[in-house]
Amino acid sequence: MSQLIDPHGRSIDYIRLSVTDRCDLRCFYCLPKGFKGFEEPEHWLSFDEIERVIRAFGALGTRRVRITGGEPLVRKNLPALAARLQSLPGIDDLSLSTNAVQLTRHAEDLYAGGIRRLNISLDSLDKKRFQEITGGKLEKVIDGLMAAKAAGFTPIKINMVVMKGINEDEVETMVDFCIKHDFTLRFIETMPMGTTGCDAVNHYVDLQTVRTKLKQRFDLVPGVMPGGGPARYLQVAGTDLRIGFITPISQHFCETCNRVRLSVDGTLYLCLGQDNKFELRPLLRNGISDDGLQEAIQHAITLKPERHEFNEKPSQVVRFMSVTGG
Ligand code: SAM
Repeated sequence: MSQLIDPHGRSIDYIRLSVTDRCDLRCFYCLPKGFKGFEEPEHWLSFDEIERVIRAFGALGTRRVRITGGEPLVRKNLPALAARLQSLPGIDDLSLSTNAVQLTRHAEDLYAGGIRRLNISLDSLDKKRFQEITGGKLEKVIDGLMAAKAAGFTPIKINMVVMKGINEDEVETMVDFCIKHDFTLRFIETMPMGTTGCDAVNHYVDLQTVRTKLKQRFDLVPGVMPGGGPARYLQVAGTDLRIGFITPISQHFCETCNRVRLSVDGTLYLCLGQDNKFELRPLLRNGISDDGLQEAIQHAITLKPERHEFNEKPSQVVRFMSVTGG
């Protein structure tokens, strides 16, 4: 049982660890075109500092760590960091979110570093459309996915942000693709994150409409999936495919939120959709003791708000997803 209980009675046993705010794609709903305002590396937590923070979380009952970003594979020597985190007391589930662009090169090392579960962003299976959405090449992502499968990762979850007028006509194609390759599929609603220059809200789709559409073609039965996340799963009867629906807007799941996020500059964000935060970097660089660090984390958890307000205050959060750590 975690010793981190927030003021709303929720047990916090999950941390999302952003290891970079850089990304090698430019998804229009995540980062604005031409965005160059990335933090300079001197502000980034070193691997030693990250290890200290995660060790403290582990001592306080955190079991799950998801490495994310930005794009985590643009951080040098990421497999070495994974291996260090994997061996920390208390941490028994290490996973990675990636766009898979560089996964072909890194899959085996990441597996050797102890990562077993992967979430991979994939918003389109059409080359031209993928390029329009992300600025990147679909072939690299598909090669990365196949390399991950060959390396033995399981489960591999495909994350598709469903967007009106962009890719909502591809949901069935994505289902067929995931059945064929034995991937798990999750559909995600767009969130109003860092709205300036990111056009996410204008393409919002209520995932209930996707569920209704899929039910016309597939027999969907209740499904379960291990993991600490907010997706609600259905299974396509007669197949192994589980489809998760992540609905922060149409049906928020804050009452079961079990996580906090650590950005690459050492800021602990208590909620994706609120500005409540606590700075750990100054403490780390001013020689705080291990006990002091644990006390600071316990204090930070008291700042966790009850819920996001994406619906009530859509322009409140000015951070991009890549800064918070998606
Ligand atoms: N680079 C990694 C990746 O591609 O998975 C990890 C970071 S990325 C910011 C994490 C996820 O956030 C991706 O699946 C991305 O599609 C999603 N995302 C970014 N901005 C979003 C928004 N405004 N609404 C919903 N999802 C968003």
